[in-house]
Amino acid sequence: MHLTPQQRAALRARLLMLEQLQTERQQGDPNNDAAATLSASDQLHCDAVSRALVRVHGKTYGLCIDCNESIAFARLKMEPQTLRCQDCQARHDLQIWRDPSARWVNAFL
Ligand SMILES: [Zn+2]
Repeated sequence: MHLTPQQRAALRARLLMLEQLQTERQQGDPNNDAAATLSASDQLHCDAVSRALVRVHGKTYGLCIDCNESIAFARLKMEPQTLRCQDCQARHDLQIWRDPSARWVNAFL
């Protein structure tokens, strides 16, 4: 399944919204230092969204990085920065579960 121009535009809009929310969260309340501090997990998520925004203009966006098959639009709608189809993500998650030391290196790759 290739993404239609309308689907791609909808996903790009969602990514831009996520990026905006992250920017607002990073800026937070200038009187509250804790609000401006992102956890490592939040930072990885921000990076994943930024990378997805770059990919959405290219030909590889929406293709699974493991099997190169199209990622279902419904999955992309829920998580537009995702890199894997559902089956490959499940395998990836299982691999991380078996080897937790790889979690932060591979969580969003
Ligand atoms: Zn896959």
